[in-house]
Amino acid sequence: MTLVSPNSAQHKKAKALKPSSRRPAKELCSECGLCDTYYIHYVKDACAFIHQHIAELETQSHTRSRNLEDPDELYFGVNQGMMAAQKTAPIEGAQWTGIVSTIAIEMLTKGLVEGVVCVQNTKEDRFAPMPIIARTPEDILKARVNKPTLSPNLSVLEQIEQSGMKRLLVIGVGCQIQALRAVEKQLGLEKLYVLGTPCVDNVNRAGLQKFLETTSKSPATVVHYEFMQDFRVHFKHEDGSTETVPFFGLKTNQLKDVFAPSCMSCFDYVNSLADLVVGYMGAPFGWQWIVVRNNTGQEMLDLVKEQLQTQPVMSKGDRTSAVQQSIPAYDKGVTLPMWAAKLMGVVIEKIGPKGLEYARFSIDSHFTRNYLYLKRNYPEKLQAHVPEFAKRIVNQYRLPE
Ligand code: FAD
Ligand code: SF4
Repeated sequence: MTLVSPNSAQHKKAKALKPSSRRPAKELCSECGLCDTYYIHYVKDACAFIHQHIAELETQSHTRSRNLEDPDELYFGVNQGMMAAQKTAPIEGAQWTGIVSTIAIEMLTKGLVEGVVCVQNTKEDRFAPMPIIARTPEDILKARVNKPTLSPNLSVLEQIEQSGMKRLLVIGVGCQIQALRAVEKQLGLEKLYVLGTPCVDNVNRAGLQKFLETTSKSPATVVHYEFMQDFRVHFKHEDGSTETVPFFGLKTNQLKDVFAPSCMSCFDYVNSLADLVVGYMGAPFGWQWIVVRNNTGQEMLDLVKEQLQTQPVMSKGDRTSAVQQSIPAYDKGVTLPMWAAKLMGVVIEKIGPKGLEYARFSIDSHFTRNYLYLKRNYPEKLQAHVPEFAKRIVNQYRLPE
């Protein structure tokens, strides 16, 4: 990797792209925001879709790359511990119980950082992302809950250098964090903390609308949704009611091209380069899942320990035959009638994979799908773009041509 030494004059030479300009990653761009700044200078090295180098960046961030012979690290990345957790007093309106927002607030109020990169929504649209550098707990709280759309979180990077900030927390998903790690040394910071969430199947704003309209009975009132560990999508509506739709009842044939091409070719589901990852998929139903990748991540988690109830991670069931069966079903766009989908949902919830095995189910299903997508649409990228850990995961299954 050849990164140029920090030098603002150098940054200024690289002009940010206009919002309407085609991005260097072309249709694979996930709109991470880097190209909205003068850090576009580093795009060939930094963009997650142009130059995949997760193993190298793992060594930079965690002092070593993941141990491919360790089954947990193969799937979940470098870590020094995992747990299931809930906030004892959940934050109203958060995506889950608000562990992410709480860590960010503690880091700011305790003076560990001067600002937090997070994403609020615009006034007009609850799902349209508006990245900011939060400097108050109120601003962090306003960023709670997922904006389930591609979000240019890194578009605020120029403001960091301009503000003279030296200690920063960035909250983000895998593709944003890969680009961030690649330019980390150019930001002029004394300390960067990275709080990541897993991410999969993201969409642009138009794609989100199509997903809501195809899947929910009342798309206009959805305030929040999640693909949960009980194999159902849970929609929360403005009036507080919950609507559930079994995964197997999703209209796969109509939704096939709703996901962004970037997300169809992503293999960093678990946010390999964050110091601390907070998701849900490796935890029992209703719990959040925490992966501590390094000492910085442990320091961040320790700040909120007293506000959490925790339990060890568990793993139950065997995902492999369900994954194998889902591969041709997805490929052919099979949609079950709703009664069959509900029945299948009930059965799989009773006997299906739980805890870490559920997370493996989700990783396997997405990696096999994405591998096929890449092979068919970008065969020239396949070898370099798919990380070694993902190749090993995909190789466990029989894929159609
Ligand atoms: P909150 O306290 O509500 O905070 C949420 C934080 O997310 C905010 O700080 C906000 O800045 C940030 N954020 C919101 N939208 C975006 C965005 N588009 N890009 C970057 N940052 C954003 N977990 C899994 O285990 N499996 C998954 O498949 C999975 N998919 C996800 C897909 C997306 C698009 C996102 C954003 C998250 C996903 N997560 C997934 C993480 C999970 O949904 C929760 O975000 C996580 O558990 C934190 O919950 P919380 O209540 O602690 O967060
Ligand atoms: Fe630029 Fe980010 Fe798009 Fe890559 S994904 S082209 S770095 S905006």
